[in-house]
Amino acid sequence: MSEDRSLLIAKNWWDKLPRKIYSTLERVPIKQDWFQVYRVLPDIYVFYEPYQYEEALSTLILGEDKAILIDTGCGIGNLREAVEEVTDMPVMVLNTHAHNDHIAQNYMFDEIAMLDHPWSHKAQEGLPISEMAHLVADGMYWKPLPEGFDKENYVVPGFKVTKWFKDGDVFDLGNRTLEVMHTPGHTPDSLCLLDREDKLLFTGDMFYTGGIYTYLNGGDIPTFVDSYMRMLDHYNEYERLMPSHNEPWVEKQLLKDVFKAVVDIAEGRGIYKEGTDRGTPIRKYEYERFSVVTRAPE
Ligand SMILES: [Zn+2]
Repeated sequence: MSEDRSLLIAKNWWDKLPRKIYSTLERVPIKQDWFQVYRVLPDIYVFYEPYQYEEALSTLILGEDKAILIDTGCGIGNLREAVEEVTDMPVMVLNTHAHNDHIAQNYMFDEIAMLDHPWSHKAQEGLPISEMAHLVADGMYWKPLPEGFDKENYVVPGFKVTKWFKDGDVFDLGNRTLEVMHTPGHTPDSLCLLDREDKLLFTGDMFYTGGIYTYLNGGDIPTFVDSYMRMLDHYNEYERLMPSHNEPWVEKQLLKDVFKAVVDIAEGRGIYKEGTDRGTPIRKYEYERFSVVTRAPE
């Protein structure tokens, strides 16, 4: 890495792993070492990538009629093979937004659903190595990359979305439904999914227990705050949060803590450290279970 990203990426970040929650979840053995699979509820599995900095999580939800896979991770292991060890059902991918660490293996699946938004349309082109290489730079992973993974040709292959959906649309899986809540702020296309039957909120990158980014292209704090108000409007309809990074099973109280933090930040309060990420000046506000990263004002 030519640039100092130490504000974002702590040296030996893997020393804090494994995170506590995983010892309480049922581990499902699969052939590949790159993923760890956990059964969170009888029909809900997470595919976790603990050896790469993003700690990406893809969540498989098996309904009676349909199976949905939320996000497809960083594209380092073979997610489709891993998913097929868990279910025989045909699986539809549903992305929480178009970032590289959520769409990298969309191309492996036949059915892909995305929010009808310019960012998702653009995402179908895939991403070149220049957008991916930083994910496997020195210090970004701590176990050998899987055999067959080619660092020199690490791209997001193009894919074709087969279902465009909009805010408020409902996916009926048979015994459970997922309702789309468009929640921009991390990116303009970010969304959450509400599962009222299981009382879960799938938060994508709007919430997780790591550095929550509002400074990337298309992210901004006022929009983020608005989206949190909407997520909190439904507070009585979910008990647990299922993010796309770090920890798959989080108490909902933390959403209120993030909301308070971002309101403070929006109003000029809060203690931060300054740094840069690939040329962008940023501020990092550290809290007990998460941090918030914003663009530094010019
Ligand atoms: Zn993201």
